[in-house]
This record gives sequence, structure tokens and C-alpha cells, in this order.
Amino acid sequence: MSMKQKILSRIALMIIASTVAVILIVLFNFRSYGINAATDKAEIVSELVKNGLTSHMINGTMDKRESFLKNISHIKDVEKLWVIRSEIVSKQYGPPRKHEMPRDDIDLKVLASGEKEIILEERSNQALLRVTIPYKASADELVNCFQCHDANHGDTLGAISMEFDIMSVREEGVATIVKILLTTVIAIGLVIFLTNRLLNPYLELFESLKNSIKKASMGNFSNKIETNLIDEAGEMVHEYDTLLEKLDNTFGQIDKKLRTFVATEAQNQHDPLTDAESIITALNRLYQFKKAIEQDVTKEDIYNRLAFVMQEYFKVKNFTFAEINAQTNESEIVLEIGQNIPCDAKVDNNADLCRAKRTGANVSSDDFPGICECFKAPQKNYHCIPVNVGGHTGLIIHIISDTEAEHVQIKKQSSLIKNYANEAAPVIETKRLMQMLRDSSLKDALTGLYNRRFLDEYVEKLKPQVIRQKINVGILLIDMDHFKMVNDTHGHDVGDMVLKELSGVLHNNVRESDLVIRYGGEEFIVLLMNVESEEKTMDVAEKLRSKVQSMDIAIGDNKRLKKTISIGVSLFPNDSESIWQAIKYADIALYEAKKSGRNRVVRFESHMWDADQNF
Ligand code: GH3
Ligand code: MG
Ligand code: MG
Repeated sequence: MSMKQKILSRIALMIIASTVAVILIVLFNFRSYGINAATDKAEIVSELVKNGLTSHMINGTMDKRESFLKNISHIKDVEKLWVIRSEIVSKQYGPPRKHEMPRDDIDLKVLASGEKEIILEERSNQALLRVTIPYKASADELVNCFQCHDANHGDTLGAISMEFDIMSVREEGVATIVKILLTTVIAIGLVIFLTNRLLNPYLELFESLKNSIKKASMGNFSNKIETNLIDEAGEMVHEYDTLLEKLDNTFGQIDKKLRTFVATEAQNQHDPLTDAESIITALNRLYQFKKAIEQDVTKEDIYNRLAFVMQEYFKVKNFTFAEINAQTNESEIVLEIGQNIPCDAKVDNNADLCRAKRTGANVSSDDFPGICECFKAPQKNYHCIPVNVGGHTGLIIHIISDTEAEHVQIKKQSSLIKNYANEAAPVIETKRLMQMLRDSSLKDALTGLYNRRFLDEYVEKLKPQVIRQKINVGILLIDMDHFKMVNDTHGHDVGDMVLKELSGVLHNNVRESDLVIRYGGEEFIVLLMNVESEEKTMDVAEKLRSKVQSMDIAIGDNKRLKKTISIGVSLFPNDSESIWQAIKYADIALYEAKKSGRNRVVRFESHMWDADQNF
């Protein structure tokens, strides 16, 4: 129901309600009026009859009383009239005539009680008022009942009963009601017509305001209102239009500016308010993410956080992060969630085979059939996002979808995912550089092995680990025999080459978990972690010695060089609970090896240790 209909129907309802009230009052009044008028008439007639009968009695013409009563009963609206005689009068003057006998219970009741009775009988086509008034024995200047009646004061001598037709009053009431109803109908029509004319412009304004506000609440501020009203409503419309214009400009600008901060998918709604809200939420999340990763310690922490964002915020189920090494152009999976991404293994060694890496643009399975030649599951949908880290594509986010709908959703969200990756990129780069810096400070530039500094740091961590796990560490202190001669004879470069060869042999002939450390110039320490026994330690040392001995190093000009090493062996914590002391023992054993002819392995024995001599 429109506003107009509501107002008009309420006005009509109010008029109808007041009309009903007026009708009820009129009905009641007419009824009361009818009864009162008839009762008054009855009182007058009764007085008239009383006086008339008294006159007849005094004049001795009581036998004429009937024609008198007949005349009286012709009074207007008096339907019936009869006078009844009481016992007292009957006793004195003989029995009453037939029509002077009580006709009903009302007559009897009035004769007995001496009280007036008024009874209304209403039927649909008739309204009769019955009034019975007693005549009581009394004496005043006009009438003295005791002149003729042997009665006491207040005795009921008789009564007069009358029936009045008050139908005419009722008819008058109905006619009045009809007039009221007619007036009401005309009033309703008039009120509706006038209200309609008066309210119409306001109601139309109300409707357009309602629609405009509805659109504004959805971010559309372009619906200005027009009106011809020049009163307060006109002023209000003017203010409203100005407000709308301001909102349109301001929110449009906010929306445009916000979009430059973050790429969003909320473009299709065209609701700057909702858009701004979703952009600010996205920005806030992005800001929280940025703050969190800045406090993270390692690159892995950042990858894990990015993975969390992808899973929790974007509901991506299957994805990997592949790190691209700018120097070697190798690709390495650094994080994997959900299904394996079936990229060709060739990519590992030549990242340029990855289309996303090569082009620096997103690659999606629906771009073109078989768009990426390295993706090995053609039936699956994939979306790969390259991320620029430190000036080159340093990270590829590979995503596969289980369903078409999921793929569409991922594509839609890829710019948002990239926002996060772009925020992470500089922090990843910083962590990578820090790692490089740290590696370079702990690694030897010539051989790529850990250096003495690493050993200093590592020893601190090693001891509690060894004690906790109850393991043995074999310590091999290795020194090349007559190395100085290499430098002296062939030059320093050849010396370096020999050192590289030697470190290669050492590194390749121990377990992955063992540590090979360049301890000094041409001295190396090998820590055999969790070595089974002393014999095993000696076996490894012997193997290394033998491998070096069989080394045949080409040093240019078709010349070849053969070198040997000497090895001193100790065991931690078997030989000492101090690692540095155990290393010292290995050094003593190495000295013994040199002393006893070189190219050999010597196990430390306690008799070699002469505290006074060695310290
Ligand atoms: P031995 O150990 O058998 O007693 O004889 P050695 O000739 O190896 O004797 P020493 O340990 O005194 O010689 C070590 C030499 O290694 C001295 C130094 O010039 C050389 N050296 C140390 N670091 C490097 C390096 O980085 N490159 C080269 N080319 N030589 C180095
Ligand atoms: Mg040496
Ligand atoms: Mg030496």
C-alpha cells in the first residue's frame, strides 16, 4: 500500500469511526427523548384524567365518565388508555365495570405497590411505551379525595394505564442517521479529494526521497530529487541534493584512490560504499600480513605465512611455491600444500622452461589449450603467478584446482593473491640476502666449505646435542703434506686448485650429515656425526687418505700432480668432554702422523699428551 493510500484510508477510517459514534449518540438521544416525552405526556394525561374524574365525581356525573375517557384517549400518540379501580373504591362503590378491572400484571403490581411503572416494548416494526400511574388518596386545594372516598391518606384508589406509540420518534431518528451518513459520505469524498490535492506533491516527494535513499544506501548517489514545492520541503530537497552531490564526489574519489592501493575483485558491484569497505578490509589484512612478515626470522616463515593467507583467505587448496635462483636459473619447490603440481622435472634445472617465469605474466590453463608445455596433467586446471623478487622473477606460485568453479574463483582472486606476494617479495629478498651474507661469513670462498668461524659457532650447539642424543663424533684433523712446495714450485693458483680438489674429495667421501670444515690454510677438520665406533672413524680417515693419494690433479701443460694428506684422529666425547680438547688431541695425533713420515692416519692415544709440553 502506498503512503498516499495509507494516509487517505486512515482519514476515511477516522471519519467513519466518528460517524458511528455520532450515530450511536443520536440513537440513544432519540430513544431517551421518545421515552421522556411519552412519560411526560402520560403524567399530564393522568393529571387530566384524575381532575376530570374528580369533577365528574363532585358533579355527580360519574356515569358519563366513559365518554370523557374516550375523548381523552384520542390524544395524539396515545394508543390505548384505561382506568382501573382498586379494592378500596370497589368496596365503597361496588364492583368495577368490566373495563375497569386490572388488565394485566402491571396493573395489579401498580395497585399493590402504589408505584408508577414504565415499560418499553420494542420490536422491529413497533415501539410501544406502557405507562401505568397510580391514583393515591390525598387532599389539596383542587382535589380532596376524602370528600367522596373512605380511604386513608396515601391509599391507592386506582390507576391509569396508557400505551404510547413512539415509533415516530424512532423513524425520526433513522431519518436523522441517514442524513448523517449522507453528510459523512460527502465529507469523506471531500476530505479525500482535498487531502489528495494537498498531499499529492508531498507524497510524490516522499516516494522519490524513499527511492533515492534506497539507491544511496547501495552506493548510487546520482538520484537527485526534483520538486516544485517552495516551502520547507523544497528547502529540504535542495539540502538533500547538495548532500547527495557531495557524497557522490567524495565516495567516488575515495573508491578510486583506494583502488590504487589494492587490486580488488569488487569491480562489478558499482557500490562505492561496499567497495570501499571491502578494500579497506583487504588493506587492513594486507597491512597485518606485512607487519607480521617484517618480524619473521626466516624466508620459510614468510612462505608459511603466505601459504596461510592462500588457504585461509582465498581458500586455495593445492599450490606450491617455486623459488627461482637468479644466478643458476634453477627452480626449487620450497613449499607444497595439497596435491602435487605436475611440472616437468626439466624446469628444476632450467627455470625458463616455465612459461610464467619466462613471460613474467600469469599463466592459466584456459588461456589456450596446452598453454604451458611443462605442465604434465592436461586434464587439470592450473593458474601460475610469477612474483618479482629483487628485480627478477624469483618466485612462482603454481595453483591447481579440483573444479572449474574453483579455477574461476582462483583466477578472480589472483590479483589479490599477488598483492600479498608483492608485499612478501622485498622481505623474501632481504632474508635471502641476509642468508647469503651469513653463508659467506661462515663459508670459505675458495672451497665453499664451512670455515673456522662456523666451527666456533657450531661447537657451542654441538655439545648439548651430542650429550642429549648420546652419540659419538669422530674428529679428523687433516693437513696436506708438503703443501708449501706446491705453491713454491707451481705457484699460488695451482696451490688453490689443489686445495679445491682436496676439499671436493673430502666432501664427496663423507656422509651428507658430516661436516667438512676448512680449519686453516691447508688444514681441514672433518666431523663424523653419530659415528658408530672408533674403527669406523679410522676406516673413514683411511678412506680419505687413500682417495687423496690416488688423486691425479691436472695442473696445465699436460702436467699432473699427486699429493698426500696426514690425518690425526680423536673422538668426542670418548677422548674428552670438551670438543676443543678433543680437537687438540686430533692435532697432537696429526703431529705424530707428520713426525712418523706423513701420508698416514694416526689415532690419538693418551701417552701422546704431555700436558706440560703441549701447554
Ligand atoms: P707439512 O704440512 O707437510 O709439514 O708441510 P707444508 O708444506 O704443508 O707446511 P705448512 O703447513 O707450513 O705449509 C702450509 C702452506 O700452505 C703455507 C701457505 O703458504 C700455504 N697456504 C695456506 N693457505 C693457502 C691458500 O689458501 N692457498 C695457497 N695456494 N696456499 C696456501
Ligand atoms: Mg701441510
Ligand atoms: Mg699446515
